[in-house]
Amino acid sequence: MSDAPLNFIEEIIEADNASGKWKGRVHTRFPPEPNGYLHIGHAKSIVLNSGLARRYGGKFNLRFDDTNPEKEEQEYVDSIIRDVKWLGGDFEDRLFYASDYFGQMYDWAEQLIQKGVAYVCDLNQDQMKEYRGDWNTPGKNSPYRDRSVEENLDLFRRMRKGEFEPGAKTLRAKIDMTSGNINLRDPVMYRILKESHHRTGDTWCIYPSYDWAHGNEDSIEGITHSICTLEFENHRPLYDWFLDQLGVHHPQQIEFAKLQLTYTVLSKRNMLYLVQNGITRGWDDPRMPTLSAMRRRGFPPEAIRAFAEDVGVTKVESVIDIGRLENAARDHLNKHAPRRLGVLKPLKVTITNWPAGQVEEVEVQNNPEDEAAGTRKVPFSGELFIERDDFMEDPPKKFFRLGPGREVRLRGAYFVACTEFVKDASGTVVELKCTYDPATKGGNSPDGRKVKGTLHWVSAAHAVDAEVRVFDRLFAAEFPGKGHEGERPFLKDLNPNSLEILKGAKVEPSLAGAAAGDRFQFERLGYFTVDLDSKSGGLVFNRTVTLKDTWAKEQAKG
Ligand code: ATP
Ligand code: MG
Repeated sequence: MSDAPLNFIEEIIEADNASGKWKGRVHTRFPPEPNGYLHIGHAKSIVLNSGLARRYGGKFNLRFDDTNPEKEEQEYVDSIIRDVKWLGGDFEDRLFYASDYFGQMYDWAEQLIQKGVAYVCDLNQDQMKEYRGDWNTPGKNSPYRDRSVEENLDLFRRMRKGEFEPGAKTLRAKIDMTSGNINLRDPVMYRILKESHHRTGDTWCIYPSYDWAHGNEDSIEGITHSICTLEFENHRPLYDWFLDQLGVHHPQQIEFAKLQLTYTVLSKRNMLYLVQNGITRGWDDPRMPTLSAMRRRGFPPEAIRAFAEDVGVTKVESVIDIGRLENAARDHLNKHAPRRLGVLKPLKVTITNWPAGQVEEVEVQNNPEDEAAGTRKVPFSGELFIERDDFMEDPPKKFFRLGPGREVRLRGAYFVACTEFVKDASGTVVELKCTYDPATKGGNSPDGRKVKGTLHWVSAAHAVDAEVRVFDRLFAAEFPGKGHEGERPFLKDLNPNSLEILKGAKVEPSLAGAAAGDRFQFERLGYFTVDLDSKSGGLVFNRTVTLKDTWAKEQAKG
């Protein structure tokens, strides 16, 4: 257990355990609606709920809140299960579906009708809205509010049998049309929907509303602490009302502030728009904030968990700097990702005094942060590639890389000095000629001679071709959409340079067998992960994150 101060939810749990309220039980759940892929905000909820169960020796359920057949699909169910497991949300064998409780919920609804606290209403949507009133105006009672129990039961049973068309009738709770809390103005419990459900097929043509269903689900599963986001605070009186009326197990609803991130749009509805309109290449496009995209891009689940713990749990809405998420990835990758040599934009180098045809294996460290990672051999020869950006024809003084007459260290190999450069007809430098100093083997100076730059390189004959996808933030504005008009103002803030594809990259030969999901640091460049597309032929890498947080600097350069 950590020594960190308790967050407010842990305080509630410890007080409950002290008072014996739940007899020491802690049972949480993550209740996604399967209407899209999970995003980093959901990760916060998963880490929180599963973490509380772990910390207090309790249980954690994964439950699909699949009460709306119009937008839900099996594809989403599958992706959510995969993502929750990947993040380490351990629900053991407790995978549940709200749709499995439809029968129980129906019986409970009949109970409330029998009790005289639920009625069938014939108002249509517009009328219902009009009768509901608003913050300033109390609502008016529906003309159908005083139907007899017998009539209500009969109509409700016929609703279930499919005798009425969608919109013709609803079942409503009879609470208080003048309540200051609009959620208590006779909320809808059931609506008619003639849609096939992804699990129950056509068994049902009435579906429970979120407010009615959610507390039922929690109660059936014996949840103790039902944790949700702040927008449900106003729904809590209704959550409590339903469970009190039923007199069943009654969990405590607790609200916390949603995770929001700079440079990011999180809602599933808006993400769906990006996917459906080809603005990104699907839900797992590595620029998306979904967990499947972050996995594909190379974010370790441990880093996402560390980030979620780090931002903590509060009751106050705030927007978290996305740099903190990227830093969490760097922290983890720095310790765990092996170093490799890879050149993104190659420039050929010929070592003019290298013995013709000779190949030497030089030894380089796998990870200076991890002694146990050891060393590996990388072939060095007279024809190499270095990074194009590491040469300037007319470099300023502070440029510590190559230029005419300048000397640098090639990582783990030798000092080389540039004697000549070759241009093509268009004036582009296409080759450097260098000499190496045999006395500098291993990259060590024999005579105290200093070089300021150490460059990465690969041997031309041994290098493996790769495609590298360099991702940047999908949105260029800190708060996408802020200050713009229109239905989807965030579209005006898309970053036009969020993806650069480098097809001609060259990487060291040890990477030839790398598998999708393997993560590396390419020295001096950043952290890179083998993409799923590698399966179909050539090696493809995704840039996961840069080595340092250079976003602000790059933006200033324009
Ligand atoms: P979105 O509005 O982004 O589409 P949602 O709230 O509709 O998300 P659900 O599937 O209903 O998505 O959410 C499942 C759980 O995840 C809920 O308990 C919800 O409160 C929680 N959750 C959703 N978004 C966030 C977030 N940004 N931060 C923390 N928890 C979240
Ligand atoms: Mg939702």
